[in-house]
This record gives sequence, structure tokens and C-alpha cells, in this order.
Amino acid sequence: MATVFYGTLDRMHRMALGDFELTAFSDGTYPLDGGAFFGVIPKTMWSRKIAADDKNYVITGLNSLLIRTGKQTILVETGMGNKLSDRMRKFYGQPAKLLDNLSAAGIAPEDIDIVINSHLHFDHCGWNTIRDKNGKIVPTFPRAKYYAPEGEWQYARKPSERDGISYIPENYDPLVESGQMTLLKGGEEIVPGVSVETFRGHTASMQAIVVRGDQKTHPVPPKDGETRVGQPPVTSCPPTACYISDLMPTTSHIDIAWGMGFDLYPLETIESKKRYYARSIPEKWLTVFTHDPKTPWVYIERDELGKMVAKEAK
Ligand SMILES: [Zn+2]
Repeated sequence: MATVFYGTLDRMHRMALGDFELTAFSDGTYPLDGGAFFGVIPKTMWSRKIAADDKNYVITGLNSLLIRTGKQTILVETGMGNKLSDRMRKFYGQPAKLLDNLSAAGIAPEDIDIVINSHLHFDHCGWNTIRDKNGKIVPTFPRAKYYAPEGEWQYARKPSERDGISYIPENYDPLVESGQMTLLKGGEEIVPGVSVETFRGHTASMQAIVVRGDQKTHPVPPKDGETRVGQPPVTSCPPTACYISDLMPTTSHIDIAWGMGFDLYPLETIESKKRYYARSIPEKWLTVFTHDPKTPWVYIERDELGKMVAKEAK
């Protein structure tokens, strides 16, 4: 297959996950303040992992995950989109590359059956909608069923002063009003093998998207505390990927204590990461990053000293 340049990702990242296929697509990159990106972590530490420019900005990616199940084409997250106000554009630019990058891979907006947003910050659901010729807000993916966390949508109607700027109602309200967007409580299976799970920390209701390919041959093991009476123990897991979104936005955020300054509940970010690793490490999940400009996914392991280590996924 020819090498195609997808946005800012260095090459095409595509892999099989059981009988599903995963591809990473970029909406481009934008600048974020390095201090805000790494919260309480000193610059002397984070600057060893990510370079900052003379204004202390670091390059931040906007990664979407395309899942082909064989029956549906599912797009997880829709980047920053093309509807930013002039003021927002001054801060963040507006790369708006997602549709071009999908098109370069032969995927038209009409091909998308399902769109899932992990949360409703503007850099995660921007391409949910576009303006048509007359300036009317319409769905970018006309045939798609959209899904987003209900708690996010409730909060977005009355956000705090701290993160109010991150919620742009035209990215989701028209879809909720028309019935094209379904609001999720957390824990739902959207199609067989693709489900959502709430991880608190970045916001109160952010949901990760868990993808389990090949469930026929590998039954899903029970979570802690669940029992399967009368059934043999599950010894092998289906191949699993998780779009963990802003709980750990890049490979540089995999350490338990390296949270973002943007997180509304930083102590809960730590607890959520522990809960995530308790399953993702023994079950060898592929972790998919929302904001890593170069590395859309890795396997995360724990070394002998208990430190988290990212292992490249070929
Ligand atoms: Zn966010």
C-alpha cells in the first residue's frame, strides 16, 4: 500500500484488531501552552519529552480513530472542525484537515455510519457539524448516528467559568434537537464490540471508547467483582483497543501523576488511570491517544520499578 501522509501523523497508522480494522486520522495540530498541558509537572521534566517553542507552546495533535467492524464504519472524535470564531482561531489556528485526510483514504462523509464523541470540548467534536451554503448548521456526516455522554451535554448547557470557552453548542445542540445524537449514560455497547466507559477526571462524564475485536473466539473476561457461575475461567482476552481521550492525551501523559492542568478533577484522573491500567495492562490493550501529534497508539506496560513504559505498536 502506498505511503499516504495523514495530517501530521508521520505515516498511515492502520492495524487489524481481530476482525476489526483501526485507522488513525488527524485533523492537524494546534499549539497549547506546555504548562497547562502538564499541570503541576515542572518544565524541567516535561521538556525532556516534548519540545516547547519560545512562547512555551507545544505541538498538539487532533487524532480521530476510524473503526471498520465489517458491518459499520465508526468515527471516534471529530477534531476541531472548521467553525471556530475569529477569537478562538487566534489562539488555536484551525487546521481543519480531517475531511481531507479521510478523503485521501477514500472515505466520504456519507460513508460514516456512527460518530462517537468522548466528551464535548471543542477540539473533540468540531467536525460533528458544518455550515451549509446558507449558513445553516448541518451534520457533517449526514447518515451517521451520533453518540456523546449525556452528563457532558447537561454540563455543557451551564459550564463553569473555568472551561465554558471549550463548549460550542453548535457542535452538538442541533444534533440533539433533531434526534440524530443519542446521549449515553456510560457503559453502553453501541454495536457488538464497541462500547463506552466513563472515566472521571478531565471532566465529570468523559467516556473512553473500548473496542474489542474477535469476541467469538475470545470471550470477554469479567471485570473485578463479577462472577460467571458455572462457566470456565476466561484465560485469553479478545484483542482490545481503548480511545482513552483526555484521561491521557499523549504518550508523555502515561505516568499516573502526569495529568493535564485542564483537568477539572485531578485526583480523580489519578484514580481513573489506576482503574484503566488494572485492566489494560494484564489484557494488553492498545491505548489510543487523542492529542499525540506523532504516536496515535501504543501498548502501555509497567516495568520492574513500577514505571509506565510505552511500547510501539507495529
Ligand atoms: Zn477536553
